[in-house]
Amino acid sequence: MTTYDYDLITIGGGSGGVRASRFAAQQYGIRAAVIENLRIGGTCVMRGCVPKKLLVYGAHFAEDFEDARGYGWGDAEASFDWPTLIANKNVELDRLEGVYHRLLRDTGVGELTGTGRIVDPHTVEIGGNGPDGGKTITGKYILIATGGWPSLPDIRGIEHVITSNEALDLETLPDSIAIVGGGYIAVEFAGIFNALGVDTHIIIRAENVLRGFDQAVRDTLHSEMVKKGVCVHQETVVRSIEEQGGRYSLRLNDDQMLEVGRVMYATGRAPNTKGIGLEEVGVALTAKGAVVVDDYFKTSVDSIYALGDVIDRVQLTPVALAEGMAVAHTLFGDKPTAVDYTNIPTAVFSTPPIGTVGLTEEEARREHDVEVYMAHFRPMKYTLSGRDEHTMMKLIVDRATDRVLGCHMVGLDAAEMTQALGIALKAGATKAHFDATIGIHPTAAEEWVTMRQPVRPEAAE
Ligand code: NDP
Repeated sequence: MTTYDYDLITIGGGSGGVRASRFAAQQYGIRAAVIENLRIGGTCVMRGCVPKKLLVYGAHFAEDFEDARGYGWGDAEASFDWPTLIANKNVELDRLEGVYHRLLRDTGVGELTGTGRIVDPHTVEIGGNGPDGGKTITGKYILIATGGWPSLPDIRGIEHVITSNEALDLETLPDSIAIVGGGYIAVEFAGIFNALGVDTHIIIRAENVLRGFDQAVRDTLHSEMVKKGVCVHQETVVRSIEEQGGRYSLRLNDDQMLEVGRVMYATGRAPNTKGIGLEEVGVALTAKGAVVVDDYFKTSVDSIYALGDVIDRVQLTPVALAEGMAVAHTLFGDKPTAVDYTNIPTAVFSTPPIGTVGLTEEEARREHDVEVYMAHFRPMKYTLSGRDEHTMMKLIVDRATDRVLGCHMVGLDAAEMTQALGIALKAGATKAHFDATIGIHPTAAEEWVTMRQPVRPEAAE
């Protein structure tokens, strides 16, 4: 019988890779190792969700101080210091990295530093100048969990731009910023910079932000962002970027010029599949460079599995975690496990935030006869403060079965509410279940259970 150094070698120490290795080691007693070339914790913990949300909290205080006046707090002088926020955020990331190291250590998972490159279906070479550089290790299974990296279009001057990686560590706040792209990252960072007083421009090639989201969500966020002062350049493409004396001039498709203090691109993320030996060993990739896997995360090579952003299914941390558990059960628990990708709740930490689960109205209409319920209101918190920010909630119901197919919200606390709505949808809740649920008063969340009249079709129809 062939003996290997490990039962599972995972390349990439992000959320999905760490979860698969640690869970398999703890639950099934296997020998596992994780190879990482940056910081353990990966994109979500080190360069994405976690630091981003800390900045969202930090930026929101700007509005909170203004709102406090309506509650009698007078003109309290509040000064903001960006380097303090960044330094404190970095202390928290160091703490979390320590937690990750400890979790791996406590479950007996080996940590190796460097870049893993697969040289045959059971062997990985570790590159780089770290302590493990030059080692070669063998494993019964290899798991590719290398995540993704910002992808940039090839235009003149692209070397001058930053991505979310650098935006999280800017030494100083610019006076103005152009953010190219209209996805999750673009709208989240626009909210952060705009709240902190940066003259913020979003440049989108489409007519609206957040393609794929419900139209009402897109329209509401767009108008709320504009009200807050974000300049949205619709149907606009950047042709080239020039730098002069630390300022950047963007030439746009209509031959207009835009001059800003920083340019950030958030134009999607590409799977990290280059330079790790995949093509050489015969792992099939899609045209976009993502690893092709079956329902159980097996690649075209029997001993090699992949999960998370590198398979480009759903680029969300909790999905990678679920995939990690599935891989552990499949490989070592004798329980082939797939992941159910329906009704995944998700939030965008824009300002105001978005929460969404289930089908958009457009998607639902393709397969169902639907009823649509909507609520628009000013959150109670903003009555005394006078802030002109509105909440939008939308429920989509299948008329044939009364099942709730989708819940979409833009407004205060949307992310927190949507997690619970996700449970209801997973459980197959009907509109009658929502109606029979007693509201919690006074909250915004009670609107979910008190929407009585559909807006489409209208009552008279
Ligand atoms: P997205 O795929 O969400 O959005 C990419 C945006 O860039 C789209 O608006 C797209 O426009 C635009 N775009 C793409 N190529 C070009 C181009 N060449 N020129 C101009 N615009 C372009 O990517 P993000 O980078 O925002 O985020 C990556 C993923 O990370 C997300 O999809 C999400 O899964 C995950 N994420 C999740 C978060 C959360 O859960 N809160 C937070 C941040 C990221 P168009 O629509 O026209 O194609």
